[in-house]
Formats: sequence, structure tokens, C-alpha cells
Amino acid sequence: ESVIVAIDGPSGTGKSSTSKAVAAKLGLSYLDTGAQYRAITWWMISNGVDVHDADAVANAAGKPVIVSGTDPARPTITVDGADAAGPIRTEEVTSKVSAVSAVPEVRALITELQRTIAKDAEHGIVVEGRDIGTTVLPDADLKIFLTASPEARAARRSGELKGVDVHATKEALIKRDAADSSRKTSPLAKAGDAVEVDTTELTLDQVIECVVTLVDE
Ligand code: C5P
Repeated sequence: ESVIVAIDGPSGTGKSSTSKAVAAKLGLSYLDTGAQYRAITWWMISNGVDVHDADAVANAAGKPVIVSGTDPARPTITVDGADAAGPIRTEEVTSKVSAVSAVPEVRALITELQRTIAKDAEHGIVVEGRDIGTTVLPDADLKIFLTASPEARAARRSGELKGVDVHATKEALIKRDAADSSRKTSPLAKAGDAVEVDTTELTLDQVIECVVTLVDE
């Protein structure tokens, strides 16, 4: 039977690594919803749309065709057929994605896309994001909310982005979390029935083990 796992939380908590590994271990599909918001942001920037003009973003939101590959061993993302995996990780996209993802029309379109992908996943899926347990898949079989101290999150992020200053990373992370948590439409939030896992003192393997055990229960 198919199982749906929602994994939410701020950035730097190990969400992506955990979600991919859990999906691979359990033979499930995997969806990175942050990559979808990054992809639409990249399209807006590339097409000269002012990301701080909510009306312009709303009007253009339906134009790009975003396709996610859901194999946890090799997740992919394309925009209008072009590989977007690299361009969606730039600092420019990271600094503008919160503004784009706050636009209700953007969220409505991406949410619909996410629900279709989850429904079509034959053996089930692990979906990671900010509003999966609260809004996208409120009937998920298991909801996890990952947290970690700001210091741990910044250290992990700057470890990923080689050569980037930890303090600047921490400031940017805190700013993005604040924007994501304070937007009106489906903000970053823990669902009432989510299991909170603080990863500050845990290794990645311990977090994976913890989530796999919760799925098996
Ligand atoms: O997870 P990642 O850092 O790639 O997410 C990028 C951004 O996409 C978040 O900061 C947030 O603005 C947005 N996002 C969202 N809802 C989700 C996933 C991501 O608004 N479910």
C-alpha cells in the first residue's frame, strides 16, 4: 500500500538529505517542493519580472512549465524543458524566492502540481517543504517537523556552500525563515499532528533512522 510522508521545517535542518534517504530506503518517490518555488523564481528573474511586484508575479505565474523528477536517487527539475537544477541554487534565486512564494497565485498553482505528483506516486512519496503537513497534504500518513538551532543550521548551510561566511549565512537564513513564517498564505508552520524532531545534536543517520522508525510504526 502507498504511504505519504510530509517533512517540513526551515532550511538547514537536514530536510532534503533526510527526505531523499528515507524515500530511497523505503522505495518511495521524493519531491523537493522548495526546488519548485526556486524554479518559478528563476523563471521570473530570467523573464524580467520584478519579483517584488506581486501583481506582475501573479499574472506570469501560469506561464512556466515546471516538471519534477521524483526518483530520490536522482531528483531532477526542468523549466520549459530546460534543466534548472544548477540555476535554482544561486544566491540571487535564494534571496528572491520568499517574495515569489508569498504570492497566493504562485502557491495555488504549485500546490496543485504537488498534489497531482503525490497522487500519481505509485508506492507513495516523501514530500519536503514548509506547508506540506498543514496545507498541501493534510491527510499525510506521517508528518515530521524538523528543527535545529540557528547556529547548527548556518553551519550546515555554509558547509554545503563552500567558502561562504557562516555569519552572513546565518543572517540570510533567519531573514528567509522570518519571511516564510510571516506570509499570509500557508506560512512555514508545524501541523498540529506533526512529530517534531530537533536535529541539532543528531547525525544525519540518526535523523533518517528516527523517521524510518516512525513510518514503520
Ligand atoms: O527548501 P528550500 O530552501 O529550497 O526552499 C526555498 C524557498 O521556497 C523557501 O525559503 C520558501 O520561500 C519556499 N517554499 C515554500 N513552501 C514550500 C517549500 C519552499 O514557500 N513548501
